[in-house]
Amino acid sequence: METYPEMNARIKELERQLLCEETCTWKYDGRDCWETECDHLFHFIAGGPKEDGFDFCPYCGSSIVASTSYYSDYAWGAMTKIRQGGM
Ligand SMILES: [Zn+2]
Repeated sequence: METYPEMNARIKELERQLLCEETCTWKYDGRDCWETECDHLFHFIAGGPKEDGFDFCPYCGSSIVASTSYYSDYAWGAMTKIRQGGM
């Protein structure tokens, strides 16, 4: 027989798993939009999902995984261009 605190801990663990299982990956398109895994585009004024305090996708309700690889590539490309431009 489980005690109440044990049951409570188990429920909390299940809730955590439920919340973590469904994810929606958001990719930065290198300009100003984020492409969601569920096929939507979202424009952020300040940076990205995490910067704007977005934990869950407003379209599918899954927790957002921000993929910054596009962003890094873009930033690196821009920096290289500036260097080549003689700055
Ligand atoms: Zn989504």
